[in-house]
Amino acid sequence: MAALLLDIEPGDEVIMPSFTFVSTANAFVLRGAKIIFADSEATTPNIDAKVIEELITPRTKAVVIVHYSGFSCDMEEIVRVTRARGVALVEDAAHAIESFYRGRPLGSFGDLATFSFHETKNIIAGEGGLLVVNNSELVPRAEVIWEKGTNRISFARGEVSKYSWIDLGSSFLPSEIIAAYLYAQLESLEQIQSKRVELWHAYHRLFEERTHLSSISQPIIPDYASVNGHIYYLLCESNAERDALIEYLAKCEVCAIFHYLPLHLSPYYRDKHDGRLLPNAVRYSECLLRLPLFYELELEVLEYIVDCVIEFYQGRTRRIANF
Ligand SMILES: *Cc1c(COP(=O)(O)O)cnc(C)c1O
Repeated sequence: MAALLLDIEPGDEVIMPSFTFVSTANAFVLRGAKIIFADSEATTPNIDAKVIEELITPRTKAVVIVHYSGFSCDMEEIVRVTRARGVALVEDAAHAIESFYRGRPLGSFGDLATFSFHETKNIIAGEGGLLVVNNSELVPRAEVIWEKGTNRISFARGEVSKYSWIDLGSSFLPSEIIAAYLYAQLESLEQIQSKRVELWHAYHRLFEERTHLSSISQPIIPDYASVNGHIYYLLCESNAERDALIEYLAKCEVCAIFHYLPLHLSPYYRDKHDGRLLPNAVRYSECLLRLPLFYELELEVLEYIVDCVIEFYQGRTRRIANF
């Protein structure tokens, strides 16, 4: 819907981080856009705001940012550059429900912002999402696109006597069962969030207390960002170290996973990418590890997971020391 609303056409360029899920790109590629992938920051997987300006050309239609793991991107710089250059801003806020930039909610900065209720997110409905339209000029068309390209909403409001096909559109409505599930989740938003944030801080505190024992790299929280308990990750020193840690944790019956394969190197897009190296995106792809974080996770189990990670690093230190 965001790509339709921004009238993305073949030949338009859309800037976004390479370190993201394919859905961020697919929406715009489906409209014929060329994706200009940007690197991540050295300190977080978020888009490096400082490189956006040099990637903007007369063909740039939009900048899409992703608030990775719920940490805010550098909104001051991103809003400044997109306003100055007259380019639309879209926030992929799939990770970012109930998260803030200096106290202001994520999803309130872009012309458009998208949230996800996929089963892997904080608030879930199996599948589904939310489009936030902050730019009021886009609201009338959003109502039409959402209703299969018809003015059925005007009809329901009694503004027209019959409804018809007036624009491009599709069926973006959730089913009643999905809506009912989501409603119950939203009613429990505070409870879900407070538990997830508590788990996130428990990981962070336990590793902080014990990092003198090892070379564990914890997430760096920008001073402007809040924690919403979406993902807790560690950064390994190499891809080999991460593989070994995943294998060790699997033996401890802990399922730790990684993502994303950088989109500029993906089988579908690598030939269309302009060849720029994006070293931070590659590093996060090779070295980032997600630890289990879900509502039912118990604190004792979380402590066990931390112990397993520490054991892995201590074992390695011992092996290195023996050499
Ligand atoms: C999950 C996710 C999406 C896709 O959400 P859907 O609800 O499956 O469309 C998009 N972007 C990011 C960064 C995600 O993590």
